[in-house]
Amino acid sequence: MKKLFSIILSTFLMVNLSFVVSFGETVQNSELIESVQVSQVSQAAIITKADVSRGLLYCREYPVTVQIDDVDVPTKEKDVPPLIVGARTLIPVRAFFEALGATVEWDAENRIVTIENDGSTVELVIDSPVAKVEGKAKILEVPAMIIDHDEDGTGSTMVPLRFVSEGLGAEVSWIEATRTANIVPASTETEEEETSTFETNYGPLNILNSNAKEKMIVIDIGHGGKDTGSIGNQNSSDELYEKDVNLEIGLKVKDLLDLAGARYIFTRESDVSMELYDRPALANDIGADILVSIHNNSFDTEKPEGTEVYYYSKVDEQGLDEGALYGIYSKDIAVLVQKEMVDILGTVDRGAKESEHLAILRRSSMPAIIIEGAFMSNPGNLEKIRTTEFKEKYAYALVKGLITTMNSAF
Ligand SMILES: [Zn+2]
Repeated sequence: MKKLFSIILSTFLMVNLSFVVSFGETVQNSELIESVQVSQVSQAAIITKADVSRGLLYCREYPVTVQIDDVDVPTKEKDVPPLIVGARTLIPVRAFFEALGATVEWDAENRIVTIENDGSTVELVIDSPVAKVEGKAKILEVPAMIIDHDEDGTGSTMVPLRFVSEGLGAEVSWIEATRTANIVPASTETEEEETSTFETNYGPLNILNSNAKEKMIVIDIGHGGKDTGSIGNQNSSDELYEKDVNLEIGLKVKDLLDLAGARYIFTRESDVSMELYDRPALANDIGADILVSIHNNSFDTEKPEGTEVYYYSKVDEQGLDEGALYGIYSKDIAVLVQKEMVDILGTVDRGAKESEHLAILRRSSMPAIIIEGAFMSNPGNLEKIRTTEFKEKYAYALVKGLITTMNSAF
């Protein structure tokens, strides 16, 4: 069904773009097409010959200027000038991305253009609404296309400016008054260096096996927005909110899940409010296989310290347990993550504990755990929590425990 749909879509594109040089064979990158939903593909715009002609005429009258780091990049005479189609700016791929320092490769047989810059890769298939950024399929509003504006028989390969630039880690700003798009290449400042150090230190993780890669993981970053969670050193100048610590850890978890090849959805990726019950509800709605909630602990007194992981073993109305329903047990994930956490963080081992009183665990249908990394109410733990090392190690231990459990279960 998906294949049939994509062939119809492609045929439609072919017919409508038939003025373009020569089509040769229709190439379907089935790997790309099949990794996205048909409904998503259908959202991609269908660009007609008329759209392209209108864009060419309009941009001849009102040219678009493209800059890199505020410096104009001239279009070569043989190239099609920047062109707006379907509210997206298309630019000739070589002229602009080589000026950015990227390498551009053209696979004529499969009609694939690959743009690579500083380890980031964007892959587009001519006339296909699906592209790959860092190997992951993404939907394009306007596909890459070959346009022969002067009908001399040689076309330029045109690619969507913003999509490709952002895929390479660059930022794009648009100034409407002067119709100027400015591409600012990815900075090589400290933030990037920190990330790469993190990935060097914590990246050598096992990757998920092919069955485990199919599973959907929901990562819930505890608290957020108006809900601060626990507060360390409350009412002092160095007050620390649990929501911020959890978020920093969560974003590192995301990097590591990418390296492991996992499928995931996060309940939040920024400092926004989210109702407690909406978190398990989201995991249920998308049919997740595993839910992991990231927290840090707190108590009324300073004394308690260390790491604990909660789980709640579920059984459905028919008496089927998590193993029968999901192929993996909450308890196994909890026990292994707990072990990795105390080994790697060097915190006091408070154990993996079963609890039926926590909403995240009780209201989710799938195996789920809540990690309480360390106590914000304990001065020694709080000192650790403040460090980047703690957050990196927390993320690493979580992902390591999760991968190991998933690889042995699936
Ligand atoms: Zn919490």
